Amino acid sequence: MNKQRSIYENFLEIVDKEPELTVYPDDIDDSITYSEGKAKKVLVNSYERNPHARKKCIEHYGLNCQVCDFNFEDKFGELGRNFIHVHHIVDISTIGNKYSVDPITDLVPVCPNCHAMLHKKKPAYSVEELKKIKKLF
Ligand SMILES: [Zn+2]
Ligand SMILES: [Zn+2]
Repeated sequence: MNKQRSIYENFLEIVDKEPELTVYPDDIDDSITYSEGKAKKVLVNSYERNPHARKKCIEHYGLNCQVCDFNFEDKFGELGRNFIHVHHIVDISTIGNKYSVDPITDLVPVCPNCHAMLHKKKPAYSVEELKKIKKLF
């Protein structure tokens, strides 16, 4: 758990270098306890926190990153089990209060690296766009 947390803290540190990218409204990995300072930077809302929606999304897509196919359990064993970010495809700022999340069309599991790349522009790149960019290299 501590290791997982330090990996995540490192990730947040990298993100910190690009202030416009520090808000990840759809990071809904609820296994992470944010330190107080970091928590202020992470906006979440009820449906993103919804463990049921996350579970449904992962049941459908599995735990592999949908951009690069990375699987945390393959690389980190027990430590990586069930670890994946869930990206919210719809830009939160464009939707109203009555929106209800569809775990399959609105959420997608991605690794933290690809997640950061998706948020390189606003609104975020689509998974397909990022896959195309990645193929060029
Ligand atoms: Zn990835
Ligand atoms: Zn995201």
